[in-house]
Amino acid sequence: LAKQKGKDHFQFYVASIDQEIRDRKQLETDLSKALSLNQLHLVYQPQINLETKRVIGAEALLRWEHPVRGLVPPDYFIPVAENNGSIVGIGQWVLEQACLQAKLWADKGLPLRIAVNLSAVQLHQNTIVDDILGTLKRYDIPAGRLELEVTETSFMTNMSDAVAKLHTLNRAGISLAVDDFGTGYSSLTYLKKMPVQHLKIDKQFIRDLLVNKEDTRITNTIIDLGRSLNLTVVAEGVETAEQEYYLTQRGCKLAQGYFFSKPLRPADFETFVQEFHEKIVENNA
Ligand code: C2E
Ligand code: MG
Ligand code: MG
Ligand code: MG
Repeated sequence: LAKQKGKDHFQFYVASIDQEIRDRKQLETDLSKALSLNQLHLVYQPQINLETKRVIGAEALLRWEHPVRGLVPPDYFIPVAENNGSIVGIGQWVLEQACLQAKLWADKGLPLRIAVNLSAVQLHQNTIVDDILGTLKRYDIPAGRLELEVTETSFMTNMSDAVAKLHTLNRAGISLAVDDFGTGYSSLTYLKKMPVQHLKIDKQFIRDLLVNKEDTRITNTIIDLGRSLNLTVVAEGVETAEQEYYLTQRGCKLAQGYFFSKPLRPADFETFVQEFHEKIVENNA
């Protein structure tokens, strides 16, 4: 009987893997059409200067509204897109959308810096530097208005290729941020070689910042590292007033998180900026 049961379990297991593979294939097919079917859009999360309490920029974050599955999280579909290469086209679209938005905001008197996430797969494309600089030109965006967020993993695949490309982009005026700092293969050598300006403390360290001593120490260490290497530190995932207060006192310069705002559609973003700045003026009055 036990054997029989084991066999059933095995078959069930095979069937579920089979289902998973088919699911993934379907997701890939759907994703390859998502762009042309207008299922992708960007939301923008405000980045706040903790000293001045002003919105200094926005991170563009990709959303996929699947007709059947609903909103598919980027942590789920970006790896799929990286695997089959469709991240190249999608990433270029993200860059164009973000530039278009930056231009619209600048024309409305909101000259915000827009941060765009750049996948390692994109970074290692031969044409990436020209693609990015060409896009800025076409949308008439000063390079200083664009920030690229790259993860530590992007540096590890082909360090010299990454260094060369990022140097060219940085010399053109684009600023560079290390995203999810502290969660990858943190080798501090690359900080010497990479022309980065910003370190983004991963939200996993911020979540329990005030209750977990390790998280407090890691966060403090990243802030101090930023200060000694002359890099601006950004805290991501700030959800409470206590976290904001601590980070401000500790000398962290920038922050983003639900405490300020979730990522927003452009119109809601504009309303947010207006109300947030009014609130600050009131508080200072
Ligand atoms: P990320 O770049 O590290 O983005 C931060 C993530 O934290 C975002 O998740 C954001 O919505 C979320 N977040 C912001 N504030 C809070 C908070 O206070 N609490 C919590 N719990 N979460 C917060 P999202 O939008 O789901 O994106 C997940 C990841 O997907 C991003 O992580 C990024 O790695 C990737 N991604 C998103 N858009 C793009 C894109 O256009 N291109 C590429 N290559 N990757 C992208
Ligand atoms: Mg990011
Ligand atoms: Mg991050
Ligand atoms: Mg992330």
